[in-house]
Amino acid sequence: MNHPTLSAVDPRRTVLGACPHDCPDTCSMLTTVQDGMAVKVQGNPAHPHTAGSLCTKVSRYTERTYHPQRILQPLKRVGPKGAGQFEPVAWDEALRDIATRLTSIAARDPQAILPYSYAGTMGLVQGECMAARFFHKLGASLLERTICAAAGGEGLVYTLGAKTGMRVEFFAESKLILIWGSNSITSNLHFWRYASQAKHAGARLICIDPRKSETADKCHEHIALLPGTDGALALSLMHELITHDWLDHDYLAQYTLGWNLLRERALQWSPERAAAVCGIEAGQIRSLARDYGAYANHGAAAAIRMNYGLQRVHGGGNAVRLIAMLPALIGAWRHRAGGVLLSSSGAFPVQKNVLQRPDLLGERQPRLINMATLGDDLLRPAGAGFGPAIEAVVVYNSNPLAIAPESAKVVRGFARDDLFTVVLEHFQTDTADYADYILPATTQLEHWDVHASYGHTDVVLNRPAIAPLGQARPNSQIFRDLARCMGFGDACFDDSDEELCRMAFGSAVDFKALMEQGFVTLATPAARFAQGGFATPSGKCEFFSQRLADRGLDGLPDHVPNHEAANTSEAYPLAMISPPARNFLISSFINVKSLQAMEGEPLLDMHPQDASVRSLVDGDTVRVFNARGEYHCKLRINSRARRGVVNGLGVWWRKMGLAGTNVNQLTSQALTDLGHGPTFYDCLVEVSAASP
Ligand code: SF4
Repeated sequence: MNHPTLSAVDPRRTVLGACPHDCPDTCSMLTTVQDGMAVKVQGNPAHPHTAGSLCTKVSRYTERTYHPQRILQPLKRVGPKGAGQFEPVAWDEALRDIATRLTSIAARDPQAILPYSYAGTMGLVQGECMAARFFHKLGASLLERTICAAAGGEGLVYTLGAKTGMRVEFFAESKLILIWGSNSITSNLHFWRYASQAKHAGARLICIDPRKSETADKCHEHIALLPGTDGALALSLMHELITHDWLDHDYLAQYTLGWNLLRERALQWSPERAAAVCGIEAGQIRSLARDYGAYANHGAAAAIRMNYGLQRVHGGGNAVRLIAMLPALIGAWRHRAGGVLLSSSGAFPVQKNVLQRPDLLGERQPRLINMATLGDDLLRPAGAGFGPAIEAVVVYNSNPLAIAPESAKVVRGFARDDLFTVVLEHFQTDTADYADYILPATTQLEHWDVHASYGHTDVVLNRPAIAPLGQARPNSQIFRDLARCMGFGDACFDDSDEELCRMAFGSAVDFKALMEQGFVTLATPAARFAQGGFATPSGKCEFFSQRLADRGLDGLPDHVPNHEAANTSEAYPLAMISPPARNFLISSFINVKSLQAMEGEPLLDMHPQDASVRSLVDGDTVRVFNARGEYHCKLRINSRARRGVVNGLGVWWRKMGLAGTNVNQLTSQALTDLGHGPTFYDCLVEVSAASP
C-alpha cells in the first residue's frame, strides 16, 4: 500500500497522537500546533489502518478541546444535587477536602468507596493505571467493568481462548464478508475501508442487523433479524452447513472439540424454526448458508466481522460463541482472509499488573460492584451479602447518569444527600451536575498516553501536543495528587506519565520506534488459527467448554432468548435497540455544536406500519415507555426500522434531551448469560404521542 509520508503534511509543528475514544480503530492522529494552539487534527497518513483520515467526530477534536464550556478549574457544589450549581475552588483546597472525606469513609470500610470508570479514554495511562493504584492502595470496592463488551469477550475466551481473531487488514482480500451486529460506517470506519476494497474487488457483503443501518445500505444484502436472535440464526446456519455437507471435516477433526455434541444441537434448528424466532424468511437463512458454505467450498475466503451490539442481550455470550464457531465448520481459518473478528485486544501484551499494581491490595479482597447495576447498588443498604452501603463514588472517563441502564434509579442514587461524589471531567455532564467536586481533566491533546486496540494489532502512542488548558490536569496527575494528600508514600505514585507509557508493554514493544513513528505493529501470525493453536485449555476451538460446564453452565452453546423477547408482551409490543447516533460516540461529542447540528434532536426510528397503527406521523414528539420509565424524543418514520422494532438512537445527555430524559430511562439492569454484561438491546417498549 502506498501512503503519503509525513512530509506531505502541513509544515507547522505536528505532534503524533492517538485517538482516545471507545472505537476499534484506534487511529494514529497528527495534531498541528501553531503558537501553542492546536489548530488541526488529522489522521496519520503513515499509519496503514488510519490511512490519513479520522472520522467526522474526532476530526472536530479541537472544537472539543477549546470548547467554551470546558471545565478549566476545580469546582465545588453550592446548590442542591443535580442543580448544577458550582463555584470555583483552589486545587489544594479541593484535594485536601476530598482526601479528608475519603480517609474518614475508608476508616470505617474502604469498600464503601466506589471508583466508576470506563472507556471515556481508552488510554492505558489515563485510564486504569494511576487510578487503579490509588484505589488498590485504598482498598476501595473493585468495579466490574462490564458495560460494553463483557458477554462477547467471555464468549470469545470460552471458544477461541482469547479476544483475538482475523487481522483486520485481510478483510480487504475476503470474498464474502458477513458484517454481523455492526454499523461499521459509524463505529468501525477503518474496517469499512477494507471491506469496501474487498467489495470493489468483487466480494459479496451481507449485513446482519435489526436496523437497516448506513452500512446495510451499502451491502449486497441485509438480514433484519429480531434483536437477540443471532444465536438462533447461527445454529440454523450450522444446520444447513451440516445437511448439505458444506463442512471441512479435516479441520473439524483436528482442531475442534465437541463437534458431535454441537452437530446434534444444530440439527434441531431447521431454517423454519430459526426463521420463526428471528422474524425473517427461512429462504434468507438457506441462502446465507449457501453463500457461506459455498464460498468456503470453492476455496474462497469467507470472513465475519462481528461487533458488540449483538451481545447486549440476555444470550449475548452464547450468540458470540456460536458465531465464533462458524469459521471452524467450514475451515475458513485456513485462509488469512477468512475467520472472524470481534476483538483483537487479546493480542496485546499489556503489563497490567505493572500499571495497575493489584499487589497494593495486600491480603485484602474487596467486593466487586458491577457497573451495569449501579442504579440498584447505589440504592442498596448495607447488608451481609452486599457489604457497606456505597458512601462515595469517584467517576472518571464515564458519564453514568447518561450511559448506565435504568437511569431513573441511577439518578436517585446520585441524588442521595449522604453520597459523596467526585467527578473528573472535561464538561459539566449529567453526572457532573450531581458531583460534590468536579475536577478538570486534560483532553488527549494535553497529556501522554499509550494505546492498545480492539480492532487492529498496533500499539499507538499519544504525545501531548499542547500544554494543559487552564488548571486542567491529567487523570494520572489528579490521582497522584490525591495519593499525596492521603499520605500514600509508595514510590509507584511518583512514576511519570512518560515512564508509565514505557512500562505499559515493557520490552515487548520497541519504545524508541513508538516514539519515532507513533505506532508499532505487533508481530502476529497472518492466518492465526490455520492449524489450530487456539488459546483454550484443549488448544482447540471449543464447541464444548468444560470450563463453562464446571461453572454449572451449559458447556454447549444454545440460543438464549431475550429477557424481554419480541412479541411476548401486550403492554409493550415493540422491541427497542439503542445504537449510537452516527455523529456521537456513546455520550461523548453530544455537546460539540457542529456534531449536534448534524444530529438535530434525539430520534426514534419506526417502521411506517408500526407508526400507522398508532396514528403517529413523522416528526411527532413521542413518549417511549415501559414499566421502568418514559423517554421523550422525535419520531422518524422510515425503513431503517423493521416492523416490531424501534431504534432509539443514543446516547444524548439527559439534560439535552426532551423532558430531561434519554433512552436509558427504559433499559434494564438485567444481565447477560456470560460476563455479567448489561442488556441494553433487550428491552420492550410502547410508543405514543407525547402530550403537548
Ligand atoms: S473514533 Fe474511531 S474512527 Fe474516529 S478517529 Fe477515533 S479511532 Fe478513528
